[in-house]
Amino acid sequence: MLILGGTGEARALAAALDDRAGVRVVSTLAGRIARPRLPRGEVRVGGFGGPEGLAAYIREEGVETVIDATHPFAERMSWSAFAACGRTHTALLRVERPPFERDPAVEWHEVSSLQDAAALLPAAGRRVFLTTGRQGLAAFAAVSDAFFLVRCVEAPDPAALPPDHALLLDRGPFTVAGELGLIDRHGLDVLVTKDSGGTMTQAKLAAARTRGLPVIVVARPSRPDAETVRDVEQALAWLDHADG
Ligand code: NAP
Repeated sequence: MLILGGTGEARALAAALDDRAGVRVVSTLAGRIARPRLPRGEVRVGGFGGPEGLAAYIREEGVETVIDATHPFAERMSWSAFAACGRTHTALLRVERPPFERDPAVEWHEVSSLQDAAALLPAAGRRVFLTTGRQGLAAFAAVSDAFFLVRCVEAPDPAALPPDHALLLDRGPFTVAGELGLIDRHGLDVLVTKDSGGTMTQAKLAAARTRGLPVIVVARPSRPDAETVRDVEQALAWLDHADG
């Protein structure tokens, strides 16, 4: 079984499957982060070389089931898995957590790209809590009339950062109290986030609501039409069913 990972769900799945007799489970990571949280069991780091490379890996290693538990914004990997599994007639399950629940008490601006999010600034706010991650930061590099608190796991390319910023290297899970502290300390007045969903990063939305901050939410990219479950529990049930 191959688990395409980089998420909490992928780690939880690897842990749940690690001691199952008769199943070899390999988790894979893109290798972007220097010190990733590693899943339990066998781990492979690095890309496959597109759908062809993944298809070759599936054949060579005799993979019978691929579980795509990558992040909702890891678009290329999901399309690659879909193509490779189609080509090799391999079972594919997608594990994708539901998007953030829209809170009617929050001023919510849904946009389809980071560029569209940047275009709403500084009109939507001049003190920005930017939590969209290291990749794609360049979309905000030209916004010169706003301050950004940029939070990401690892240091971004300095050229991608907007001129007026503070950088915070940290990774979740975050607490509402911690997020409120950041909002207050930096006088933040707008939150920009991807629609990642899940509980690890939900605290920022609760904090934004408490302080009355508008939220700019980048919608998820399009996904292949693969069989999908929403969490680890459902994935395990699917696997048990497939076994039986
Ligand atoms: P991406 O754009 O879909 O992936 C780019 C390339 O990286 C893929 O084509 C693939 O290379 C390789 N790759 C991605 N995920 C992989 C995996 N789990 N195992 C092996 N190779 C992988 O993905 P991304 O947005 O750069 O994200 C990279 C990783 O970080 C993903 O594993 C994702 O789950 C995790 N992550 C992403 C985000 C986010 O906001 N994008 C947030 C949290 C975690 P080849 O084509 O060579 O196979």
